[in-house]
Amino acid sequence: MKFYLFLIITIIILSGCQKNIFDNCNQTETCPVNIIIEDKIAEKILVEPVTEFKTRITKKPFGIYITPENSPIQPERFQGFHTGVDVEYEDVNSDVPVFTITDGQIIFADWVNGYGGVVVIKHNIENKDYLVIYGHLNPDSLPIVNGQIQKKEQIGILGKNKTNETDGERKHLHFAIYTKDDLNLRGYVQTQDELKNWVDPLQFYP
Ligand SMILES: [Zn+2]
Repeated sequence: MKFYLFLIITIIILSGCQKNIFDNCNQTETCPVNIIIEDKIAEKILVEPVTEFKTRITKKPFGIYITPENSPIQPERFQGFHTGVDVEYEDVNSDVPVFTITDGQIIFADWVNGYGGVVVIKHNIENKDYLVIYGHLNPDSLPIVNGQIQKKEQIGILGKNKTNETDGERKHLHFAIYTKDDLNLRGYVQTQDELKNWVDPLQFYP
């Protein structure tokens, strides 16, 4: 008997809440609109290319000027302004999958000097086309070129630490966003002016 009383009271309370929610919507006409806007924001959010994407950018952020003398990586073979971000995984022995940040078209996937395996995908982000570089992937794990690809699809795994898979580099993802439409794989540029053709990926991950 007590249980039924409890049930009835709960139903009354819940229906009261629901009524209030809909009352608010009817009064202001804003509830459904808010829900639609939130959905649109959710659609725009990019997927992280690797797990712990932001917290693992610990050595080479976007735009840092690297020289063999000042580099956090020793020995260093590169010099210039870093065109992307490096996401560090030297401490992780298991395979690290790499995912597409949004829908796109694969325009390049091959082994390249300085990278090992590298994939370039044309992505439309906030109504603008970019060529996005995913570098230092295991060359045997790369996708087929010219294919359309969906958001959050796996495009490979990171190459093993300091092997041919990464062209001798440590296990990390070089992730860069290029604003022009020519295939430009440079990880470093020599002037601030050239750096303007690249954007800091973190600006899309608030
Ligand atoms: Zn890099």
